[in-house]
Amino acid sequence: MRDTDFFRRWMAAAAAAVEREANRLTELDSPIGDADHGSNLLRGFTAVRAALEAEPPATPAAVLGLAGRTLISTVGGASGPLYGTLLRRTGKELGDAAEVSDEDVRKALDAGVTAVAALGGAAAGDKTMLDALLPGVAALGTSYRAAAEAAEAGAAATVPMLARKGRASYLGERSIGHQDPGATSSALLLAALAEAAG
Ligand code: ADP
Ligand code: MG
Ligand code: MG
Repeated sequence: MRDTDFFRRWMAAAAAAVEREANRLTELDSPIGDADHGSNLLRGFTAVRAALEAEPPATPAAVLGLAGRTLISTVGGASGPLYGTLLRRTGKELGDAAEVSDEDVRKALDAGVTAVAALGGAAAGDKTMLDALLPGVAALGTSYRAAAEAAEAGAAATVPMLARKGRASYLGERSIGHQDPGATSSALLLAALAEAAG
């Protein structure tokens, strides 16, 4: 079973990964975006870390709800509401349980990713964060490590894609040949989950 501390460790590992990779995320957002993805997420996850320390939540759902609300209120870019929705919706699915099973986590994340797709109107192959999140969550039934690897492969697979959503879509054919920054950060998020699972 996974307790509240597991979700706190997930968010702490995500914050650390974003801190480590912020420059790379911003560099990826430079040819096909506005060069702010790393700084957006760094601001967001720094605030998440501070919020979780200021008022330690009592349940898994409360950790993800607080983290999601914090991302929505601190990240200006498209990724803020999308990641905020992912975490809030995932948290909501977990209800008020003090401990949840890995199958609960899988189902909740599946609902979270569905909510991201509904909010952004994107689907698989549109060269967005969903191209890492969808294969990642599909592999959660195997293990957290498999999910992280599938998300990483999904992010790499965005390189030849033509962007159909978000800023990169304004570039049309010129979006081809670059890895999507949001898919890259989604792979970091699932790698952080695997790290928390140990
Ligand atoms: P902005 O584009 O507003 O500057 P960010 O740079 O923080 O925001 O985030 C860009 C990332 O957000 C993209 O790389 C993509 O993965 C993701 N994204 C943008 N629009 C959508 C959408 N409609 N659906 C899913 N993901 C999206
Ligand atoms: Mg950007
Ligand atoms: Mg921006």
